[in-house]
Amino acid sequence: MIRARLNPTPPPELLQKPVVGVLLPLPLAGALDYKLPAGLNAPRGALVSAPLGNREVLGAVWGAAEGAVGDNRLKTAEPLEGAPVLPAKLCDFVDWVADYTLNPPGAILAMALRSRGAFEPEARRIAYVRGSVTPPRMSAARARALEVAGDGLARSVTGLAEDANVSPAVVRGLIQAGALIATELPEFLPFKTPDPEFAAPSLNEDQAQAARVLREASAAKKFSAHLLDGVTGSGKTEVYFEAVAEALRQNKQVLILLPEIALTVQFLERFAARFGSRPTEWHSDLSQKERRRAYRAVMSGEARVVVGARSSLFLPFPELGLVIVDEEHEQAFKQQDGAIYHARDMAVVRARIEDCAVILASATPSLESFVNATGGRYSHLRLAMRHGAAELPEVKLIDLRHEKDAPDVEHKGQWLSPPLRCALDKVLAAGEQAMLFLNRRGYAPLTLCEACGHKFTCPHCSAWLVEHKYKKRLACHQCGYELPMPSSCPQCNETGTLIPCGPGVERVAEEFAAFFPNARYSIASSDTLHGPAETQAAIRAFAKREIDVLIGTQIVAKGHHFPQLTLVGVVDADLGGSDGDLRARERTFQLLHQVSGRAGRAEKPGLVLLQTRNPEDAVMQALARGDRDGFYAQERQFREASQSPPFGRLAALVISGYDGDAVRTIAKALGKAAPAARDVKVWGPTPAFYALLRGQTRERLLVQAARGVDVQAYLKAWLALVKVPASVRVAVDVDPVSFF
Ligand code: ADP
Ligand code: ZN
Repeated sequence: MIRARLNPTPPPELLQKPVVGVLLPLPLAGALDYKLPAGLNAPRGALVSAPLGNREVLGAVWGAAEGAVGDNRLKTAEPLEGAPVLPAKLCDFVDWVADYTLNPPGAILAMALRSRGAFEPEARRIAYVRGSVTPPRMSAARARALEVAGDGLARSVTGLAEDANVSPAVVRGLIQAGALIATELPEFLPFKTPDPEFAAPSLNEDQAQAARVLREASAAKKFSAHLLDGVTGSGKTEVYFEAVAEALRQNKQVLILLPEIALTVQFLERFAARFGSRPTEWHSDLSQKERRRAYRAVMSGEARVVVGARSSLFLPFPELGLVIVDEEHEQAFKQQDGAIYHARDMAVVRARIEDCAVILASATPSLESFVNATGGRYSHLRLAMRHGAAELPEVKLIDLRHEKDAPDVEHKGQWLSPPLRCALDKVLAAGEQAMLFLNRRGYAPLTLCEACGHKFTCPHCSAWLVEHKYKKRLACHQCGYELPMPSSCPQCNETGTLIPCGPGVERVAEEFAAFFPNARYSIASSDTLHGPAETQAAIRAFAKREIDVLIGTQIVAKGHHFPQLTLVGVVDADLGGSDGDLRARERTFQLLHQVSGRAGRAEKPGLVLLQTRNPEDAVMQALARGDRDGFYAQERQFREASQSPPFGRLAALVISGYDGDAVRTIAKALGKAAPAARDVKVWGPTPAFYALLRGQTRERLLVQAARGVDVQAYLKAWLALVKVPASVRVAVDVDPVSFF
């Protein structure tokens, strides 16, 4: 751990209490001035306990004092025991992110700090071992307990009681008699150091070439950025693991960022197979205790490789030497709540500040990264072929308009077209596996009363309630509001008139089961109503070939490797294409390409069938022709012509609050106040797509600017013009990726 240097013989001027700026993890305007205890100085990043009102808040020394508060009114901040210090580069990163995203630095610091416990020495557990004393009074139970304890292992009271099949009172008696003696154990086993030489793969020629570039970049210990652009199954993971190995040889720490849903046991095991031990994990499923422990291990340098979701970007690595963002195109890297930031973009920034290499990996890069790579700002490493015998699958479009029995929402409630059913038949007969993909959870996205036309909507959001048939409930996917499936219409009181409209995965599964009564299938859906455990179980069962068909939402789209999967059916390829937002086409292409990439990953060739009503659409055509670069070229032209990112800049203001009138008033005032500036256009305000979300009214404004414009400066000047009441929140979203 880096420690504050305590000055043993302070020069006389320091016997005056030094005054410093302390940043608190709160959304305040900046650092506050505090005194340090006499004779003590502390560097930037030194952690202190600072009084604020009647609380003690954990904060970090940030820099020189402002000097606005009179010396006699200053309170004293106490350095934490052991004088822990956040790495200086992390402090610089916090400042950078705050400036870029227009968040108060304290709000960003909050993401880089943990609770006080994380900075205290690790808690120890008391356990007991056999002592030399023989208790004066022996019983069968006591003898049994001593015999078990005789193996030399340290156990807790209850642990020993359980192992010896005696009551805890017996164990306590033995402790009192001195026959068992207390010993302190660390709460956790130490993290193992991954071994770069554990099981190096033999790479094919393309892989070896890319790996060499990345190894050298990793060894160079200076900033460089790389796009590892390889088709699904080409071995991107194997290749970037070689860069990880090199960083380990250089005694550097490594951060691998994954979208939360890709953080699976499968990935951790794969890492262990290459490096001999699992990496340190960082994600939302960890307990507070595990988080504190991982945080501490990163800060002390004990954790050498962290695999984490986006928030791991703010961990206090003292010697970070490589950052990897896998599936870099994923929208999940954009944090939308609280401080809004894009973890992929900020990963590049962190690497620049740390002066190390950053690798972005994807089979379908974001257009931003693609442009950076083809323009030479990033090195562009391509893997064009799947590893081994595997071929890319054939992709065919099924034109739903021309299918005689075309699925028809109102009348038939059918979603699997004859050609798709026919292909499923063949695959099942051959004993192979298939996947049906529909990016919609639940049974039906809308429930309608046939008699009066009533539509079930969420009382807190502008969203329909989605039927979940298994649970017999209607649920809002935005806020989690639920109600039991009603039997009559709440508006006209008719019974038996409620009809489901449109398909969700549950409904596709129902239809599939009707057509293929003997096939074994499961649903995998990222759904709280369905359950993550059930979903993981379905994926495992599919991998073990205990089921023939997996019917899933986007959770099945990426990362998984199923060798016997030869058919992927996309039930509705047009979903998401009609949002009309800037990235809808790119997103649709990426998602469908990823889903398609699940098929034919081993020896047997794969087939992908896309059901669509827009077969002429550029996205569908590019997918069918396997012309990824053609799609990117076209998308690039389109963005360039419209001055959209990355050829222009965007920022959004989202105004929200429970008082709808206040929200609209502020939105209007902001709209009016927008300063005129060259190469800047302001659109709105308009009601957001979810004009009501979790009970809050939402309005949006969009800033479109030429690339050279200092958008942050513009926004700051603008926001200073309107006084916003406490009941209304104005969130700034620089480089928005979602327009909801
Ligand atoms: P990607 O991340 O590009 O989709 P992966 O790294 O997951 O590809 O590789 C796909 C499959 O091929 C995995 O099962 C992986 O273990 C295997 N593979 C890739 N490269 C090699 C190699 N050089 N030697 C052995 N197996 C490899
Ligand atoms: Zn809702």
